[in-house]
This record gives sequence, structure tokens and C-alpha cells, in this order.
Amino acid sequence: MIEVKSYLMGAWVAGERKSDLLDPSTEAVVGSISADRPNLGAVLEHARSAGGPALRALTFAQRGVILKGLSKAIHTQREALIEVSITSGGTTRSDAKFDLDGASGTLAYYAALGAKLGETRLLSEPSEQLGQDSRFFGQHVWLSREGVALHVNAFNFPAWGLAEKLAVAILAGVPVITKPATSTSILAFRVAEAIVGANVLPAGAFHFVAGSVGDLVDQLGPTDVLAFTGSADTGAKLRGSRSVVGRSTRVNIEADSLNSAVLAPDVEPGDDVYRIFLRDVVKEMTQKTGQKCTATRRVFVPRGQADRVIEDLSAELSRVKIGHPGNDEVRMGPLATKQQRDDFRSGVAKLEASGARVVFGSATEVSPIGVPDGKGFFVAPVLLRADEPSKADAVHAHEVFGPCATVCLYDTADEAVALVARGEGGLVSTVYGDDRETLRTFIMGIAPYHGRLLVVSAKVADKTITPGLVLPSCVHGGPGRAGGGEELGGERGLRFYMQRTAVQGDRALLDKLFEGPKA
Ligand code: NAP
Repeated sequence: MIEVKSYLMGAWVAGERKSDLLDPSTEAVVGSISADRPNLGAVLEHARSAGGPALRALTFAQRGVILKGLSKAIHTQREALIEVSITSGGTTRSDAKFDLDGASGTLAYYAALGAKLGETRLLSEPSEQLGQDSRFFGQHVWLSREGVALHVNAFNFPAWGLAEKLAVAILAGVPVITKPATSTSILAFRVAEAIVGANVLPAGAFHFVAGSVGDLVDQLGPTDVLAFTGSADTGAKLRGSRSVVGRSTRVNIEADSLNSAVLAPDVEPGDDVYRIFLRDVVKEMTQKTGQKCTATRRVFVPRGQADRVIEDLSAELSRVKIGHPGNDEVRMGPLATKQQRDDFRSGVAKLEASGARVVFGSATEVSPIGVPDGKGFFVAPVLLRADEPSKADAVHAHEVFGPCATVCLYDTADEAVALVARGEGGLVSTVYGDDRETLRTFIMGIAPYHGRLLVVSAKVADKTITPGLVLPSCVHGGPGRAGGGEELGGERGLRFYMQRTAVQGDRALLDKLFEGPKA
């Protein structure tokens, strides 16, 4: 039994009231977490008054050294953390590595960026002459916000979600209060222990809240920031909080997304591009049991190729063994909670009611291996087909957060573009094709609706990443339904935690302050 504790103002604190945490593979109670509704005002103040000044006193290079230490601390405990992920989160070993290596890798990436930015505490843009006089200049500079970052994370990436936000905030010089989702908080807690145990962060720079944050969101002030990842509903609630609406607390929302894969008409079965398309769709449906914000939910296929594509995807999906993630044969574990399983079932029913039909799998029938009869929150992968996708509203509006995708048939490239846009803003879309003109239509039409667009053509077919992999060097986030936010993207990510100010004055003074040896 693991008791998930908070780390507040330098001490580990247990809650007074507790709620149980279940292993989603067996439904056994494996831990507990606080069920209190705390007042975290003093923690906010401590982070502001101790953590903030200590971090801002350091240069990017020095903060980078801290991140390197955090990355190492997680990597050193990798094997133990993988076990925790399997036994408390229901992830397969491979899914656990995806989360944990994502965490240590992103910290390492930002550590290296810190070293590159060097012995400075600000970012500056080129200066410009403002009038007739060649002495009077303006320069945009970015300085750390003198506030606190509140990070609220989703359940599906307890390690990576915590670490990717932490890496960027710490490098930007902003202290962090981080809150994991309750259901998968055991792994997040172990990661937080590794972070604290590394003993490299200044006092007050890191706080971990197990359970509810009480009314902390409403207590945030004008220089604080709120970075949220989770459902669109919670995101909308937080966006409407007193602090965001009344005090302009800066907010970044990463929410739902109906990510798409588009197969171009020029791709033939047997092509390398076709092979990668099949690999990606199956991986995106089944990796982490489809519980990825970047997982492919809609697969656009030329009408004439639909039967073949469905046959090939079904053959691949039928090979995916479902069951206890501790079993070596198993490729897909359970969903994280009973609620997630119920939502999955009702979500598939919603897609069916909207005009899609199930062509592989079942939302209700599954025979997981290696688990007690009837136990665990398992589901099978479900593939649906929409012959008239323009009429299947739910396919473009309802995210089924599990191993589920709908093959949508299209007749022309322009129609495919319009259908992809029906998702109203997404995190990632992937286009598979080789004909330049068709690719141009897809890229120009789809890009404005997405934060990221992966293009798999013959020349790079064997070199591309899978669409669900979020790299720290590229932005993550998307417009509209996806929350309208943006994270990571190398140096771009730092700007959320910094204030841009146009400093206007004597050119020589600006040059001295911002272009010579920096402040
Ligand atoms: P959720 O239910 O919205 O919860 C997300 C987080 O918000 C959890 O930590 C939750 O805490 C917390 N929370 C809930 N109500 C709150 C409130 N009133 N004040 C402060 N915090 C509150 O979402 P989820 O079920 O964990 O995550 C699944 C969703 O996240 C999916 O829709 C997925 O698409 C999305 N997601 C998006 C991204 C992305 O980058 N765009 C990444 C991952 C997931 P408790 O757990 O304690 O309730």
C-alpha cells in the first residue's frame, strides 16, 4: 500500500481523510490519497517569496544544471518506476517507458537548452530605431514572471506530464506547484520523490499537491500562470476562474483533440508509406490503451481503398494481446479507471448513433489474459467505419478516450480537408502520401487547424516518428477544441513563463543592458 503524500514547503504531508487508489488491472486497493480540500495560500506565498527569487537569481545555464540533475534522478530510478507504473497504473512495460523516458528526456532537452542559452537571465529580440533620431531605440526583452506556476495534469501521463511542464517553468525561472490527476497519482508521487530526493532545486521551487488544490486556482494573481492538461470541460471551468477572468492570470489549456490520419489517394497497398500508415494507426489506437491526447481518432481514406484498409487494420489489431500488463505477451493493458471504461463504452455508442458502424472489436466484450475473472477495466480495440462522415457529427466532436478510431471515407482531397477541419482544432494530424500537389492541398488546408502536422512521404517513411510522440523541440498544443494552448517547442515554451516588455530608450543603454554581457 502506498500513501500518496503532498510535498509542501519542504515537507511531505499526508491528508487527514483518505480515498483508495486501485490497480486498474485487478481492482485491488494499492494505495491511498488525501481527500481533503486544503487551503494552499501559505504554499503559494512560500513559492512566491522563497522559490521565485532563488530561481531568478540563477542564470539559464545554472537552471539547466538543475534540470540535468532531475533528469538523472528519474533515469536512475527507471526500473523501479516502470514497476510502479505497471502495478499501479495498468501500463505495459513499453507504455511505462514511453511516459518515463519522455519525462527524463524532456528534462534533459531543457537542461541542454539552458547550457546553450548560457550565463544570462533574459531573452532579447533585435532592437529597432523608433523615430528620426538614431539614438532612440526600442527592444523587446523577456524576463521571468515574478509569480508561481500552477500545473494541473491529466491522468494519462503521470510522469511526462509533470516533468515536461516542470522543465520549462524551472528553466524560465518560475517556481512550480504541481498537481497530478488522482487516479494515477502513485507514479506521479514516486516521480516527485525522485525530484525532491535529487536535492538540486532551491527551497520553495517545487511543491507537489496530492488530491484537491482547494481554491488555489482562484487565489492565483496577475503574475502567476496556470498550465492545465485535461478534459475540455475542466479546462473551460478553470478558464472561467476568478483569477483568469478577474486578474488576467495567464493560462494555457491543453485539452481534447480528434486527431486525424489522412491516407492520400496515390498511396498503394504495399508501398512503404502504406506500411507506415498501418503501423501508426494501430500504434496510436493501442499504445497506452488509446489514452493519449495525441492518439489518432479519425482515419480518412479514399472510398475505393476503404475495404482493403479496414481488412489490413483489423488483421493487425487482432494480433494485439490484451491483459495484465505484467504478462510479457500483453501489448495492451486496461483503461485507468472504471469511469474511463464506462465513458469508452458510452462514447462508442455515441459514434454508432451518429452513423458510424463497428467493423472490428466490441466496446463491451473482451477476454483479458492473466487477470482474475471479471476484474480490471479492460476494453478491446474498436474500429468503426463512417461511409458518410459529413453526417456523422459525433465522429468529429466526441473524443472516445481509449483504443478507438473511425475510418472515414472521402472522395476528393478538398472534401478530406473539410472533414478534418470538422474536428474544430486538434493537436496533431498526419498525412500519408507522395504526390506533391495532393500533399500541398492537404498541408495548406489542414495546418491552420492544428498545432502539429506530420507528413509521411516515401523519402522519410522509415525515418518519421509516430504521430503521438511529443518532441520537446516542437510545439505541443492546438487551436479550438484542443484548448488553444501551446507548450514546449524548445525556447518558445519559455515565453509562457516570461514577460515580454518593449523597452524604449537610448540605444547605447539598451545595447549595454541587453546585447553585451547580459543582466
Ligand atoms: P480531467 O478530469 O479534466 O482532469 C484533469 C486534471 O484536472 C486532474 O488533475 C484533475 O484532478 C484536475 N481537476 C479537475 N477538476 C478540477 C478543478 N475544479 N480545479 C482544479 N483541478 C481540477 O481530465 P483527465 O480525465 O485527467 O484527462 C483526460 C483528458 O485530458 C482527455 O480528454 C485528454 O484528451 C486530455 N489530455 C490532453 C492533453 C493535451 O496535451 N492536450 C494531454 C493529456 C490529456 P483530479 O484527478 O484530482 O480530479
